[in-house]
Amino acid sequence: IPGLLHYRQMGGLGTGAFGRVILARDTRDNALVAIKLLPRGDFIATFKTYVMREIMHQGSLWHPHVVALREVFTTPQYLAIAMEYAAGGDLFRHLRHERPAQRLPEAEARRVFQQLVIGLDYCHTRGVANRDLKLENLLLSTPYGNGAAPSLKICDFGYSKHELNSSAKTGVGTPIYMAPEVIYGGSKYNAKLADLWSVGVILYTMLFGQYPFAAAQPNDCEYARKIIKAEYDVPPSVPASADVLDLLARLLVADPRQRIPIAEIMQHPWFLRDLPLGA
Ligand code: ADP
Ligand code: MG
Ligand code: MG
Repeated sequence: IPGLLHYRQMGGLGTGAFGRVILARDTRDNALVAIKLLPRGDFIATFKTYVMREIMHQGSLWHPHVVALREVFTTPQYLAIAMEYAAGGDLFRHLRHERPAQRLPEAEARRVFQQLVIGLDYCHTRGVANRDLKLENLLLSTPYGNGAAPSLKICDFGYSKHELNSSAKTGVGTPIYMAPEVIYGGSKYNAKLADLWSVGVILYTMLFGQYPFAAAQPNDCEYARKIIKAEYDVPPSVPASADVLDLLARLLVADPRQRIPIAEIMQHPWFLRDLPLGA
């Protein structure tokens, strides 16, 4: 890729809906970085608002559980967003390829959940809702394995929204993680409360290795009906504590005004159990 300035390309990390992400080394300080490449031209012109928000919002956030933006530059072909590299990859890939039954034991799920909520609370406090929270957008600082457990990093602010802008109306996100009020579409919704629904979907998926609202057949819209009614089952074969089931039932609530607020999540007995100092 021509025009990468002081970065040397080392390989690929992923392809998302819009661009691709490469691994590179910053030759100035030898740090490994991830660079998201968005094609210039029609793409940027069409998605200008979203690209601007991604950069503005991620660039305004600085927290151990949010992927840090390093710099933004252009190459002849791309708008390049250089950011902190999360060597453990994303949580979707981890569950799918490195975990039996694609799920985490409850205590490990709690640790990931605590870090997600702490990182998200920081974003929300700074006025930023992510609107695309899902396993693919939660990264791990290091691979699981020997040594210290990885730290969770929220990434992908491509659909993010700042509360100072007019309230959200656009149905963005990924269908199986979308809150009922977002699926409905057409009317205004509170983007922070919609994020908390997605947090509930993430928690369920980490615990049970399947989505709470999924269609039995591909191309079936059954999942949308289930989401709107917040209708989900808990697989009886997987052990789960009463506390975590209580928290799930408070997150996956169809009416956003009745959904548990983030401050109360952080006071919930399941959340507080084994909370490491500064999780
Ligand atoms: P998109 O907006 O296209 O979904 P993302 O920013 O989510 O793009 O990046 C796509 C994928 O690339 C992620 O799901 C993840 O697997 C990988 N990735 C993105 N950023 C990083 C990073 N900083 N470190 C490691 N992997 C990353
Ligand atoms: Mg993504
Ligand atoms: Mg995105």
